[in-house]
Amino acid sequence: MAASFETLTLVSDENRLLLIDGKFVPAQSGETFPTFNPSTGEVLAQIAKGEKIDIDNAVAAARRAFTGPWAKMKPFERQEVILRFAELVDAHIEDFSRLDAMDMGAPITATRARRQRAVGMLRYYAAQCTHIAGSTLPNSLPGDVFAYTLKEPVGVVGAILPWNAPLTSAIWKIGPVLATGCTMVLKPSEIAPLSPLLLGKLALEAGVPPGVLNIVPGMGDAGAALAAHPDVDKIAFTGSGATGAEVLEASKGNFKRVTLELGGKSPDVVFADADLDKAVPGAAMGIFANTGQVCCAGSRLLVERSIYEEFTSRVADYARQLRVGDSLDEQTQLGPISSAGQLERVSGYLDISRQEGLEILTGGDRISAGANASGYFFEPTVIKASDNRSRIAREEIFGPVVAAIPFDDMSDAMRIANDTEYGLGAGIWTRDVAKAHAMAKAIRSGSVWVNCYGYLDPVVPFGGYGASGYGRESGVEQLQDYLETKSVMIQNG
Ligand code: NAD
Repeated sequence: MAASFETLTLVSDENRLLLIDGKFVPAQSGETFPTFNPSTGEVLAQIAKGEKIDIDNAVAAARRAFTGPWAKMKPFERQEVILRFAELVDAHIEDFSRLDAMDMGAPITATRARRQRAVGMLRYYAAQCTHIAGSTLPNSLPGDVFAYTLKEPVGVVGAILPWNAPLTSAIWKIGPVLATGCTMVLKPSEIAPLSPLLLGKLALEAGVPPGVLNIVPGMGDAGAALAAHPDVDKIAFTGSGATGAEVLEASKGNFKRVTLELGGKSPDVVFADADLDKAVPGAAMGIFANTGQVCCAGSRLLVERSIYEEFTSRVADYARQLRVGDSLDEQTQLGPISSAGQLERVSGYLDISRQEGLEILTGGDRISAGANASGYFFEPTVIKASDNRSRIAREEIFGPVVAAIPFDDMSDAMRIANDTEYGLGAGIWTRDVAKAHAMAKAIRSGSVWVNCYGYLDPVVPFGGYGASGYGRESGVEQLQDYLETKSVMIQNG
């Protein structure tokens, strides 16, 4: 078994404090909260507990930094800082991999595999620094009017994170802030704050000026204080729909801009003509990767009726052979659920499925015996649902549980796929290109994957329709949410 938390390099006292104005400081109240290792149920570290007063201090620092030396840095200079930051993240990728594995429970092999995404995103944002530009606008105004637009950073950004991918979700918010010249206060999830704190330390080392990136771990009240803060110009929120609605409500006071990356109940549609040898592992890992704790997880497996029995039993076989275990064990393919509360939520949905009389093809229970007994482990679970009406087919579970639903033909698949309030991701498995195009067009979701699932890339926008939120992360679309457009018109003569 790998190193304990204490033996990790770079996990010093600093990594347990708040980062405000370039300094690591305790919370004003002096209070801390524990973060747990979900593989063992043990406390991993005590973290300074930021509250409203700490958020106020962090926002004030971010406001000062917004008009400080940072504002005068040229695009090339911001680019150099981000590239140095990327190099430092790369150099410490093993620390991040271990921190994420221990703090939220993803297998170490999976957290190591996020290297390309984490470092690649930063390099992409570095490139964007030199691509932020307004336009000149031929117009029909009287006389000779020269019209153009300027792109300006939106100001102080408040970012609120979930726990399911601590390193990459933090970079997803920090990158566009640095690229556009904004400043920020980042509120990591109370369940997994360690990687974001280490990122803060490395950002300073890379040359990000004090106050540009402030990190305040804390509970929901710290997030609420950020969302309501009158001197925050934009909130970038990722989390559940219920919290997203509260953020939106709180943002009204000063009309701050808001982007919301929320949950999903994404359909993964398998046609009988698909390459089933690829579709079985693809669909299985479309839901079981990260123990199902992925916003765009393929949690509704729609299977053409002629192959429904064969396909669902093959996915169940695949699930049974996945190695569930401690996230630091190199052999582990499926780690624990991230918290005791989330484990309870997943178990609750299994109770509901049993009450609804659904057939549980495999899994269905907490693993409460053997080496994994003290952690928050749950069996990968496949449930047969005859239609899309059961609660496990409609509500986001955020765990390793898939509802397998049969369909009759393409129009039936389209109808079931769109029978949801959400619209985040969708998978299509077929050898028929025309069918793939028709389905991709018909499904109302921010991303569609054909003969693959869950791919993310810095250049490809990601985000939701409907209850999955609005705004996009990645791609040039994301940068626009961190910029204001100013129109200038000059009358000549
Ligand atoms: P959550 O909504 O419980 O918490 C998210 C964050 O909001 C946490 O940092 C929390 O402390 C904070 N918070 C809590 N109450 C708040 C309030 N009143 N005001 C402001 N902030 C508050 O979500 P979670 O359990 O951390 O994450 C799981 C959810 O996130 C799932 O629904 C999942 O689908 C979603 N998610 C979406 C994406 C995406 O890109 N669309 C990515 C990852 C996770």
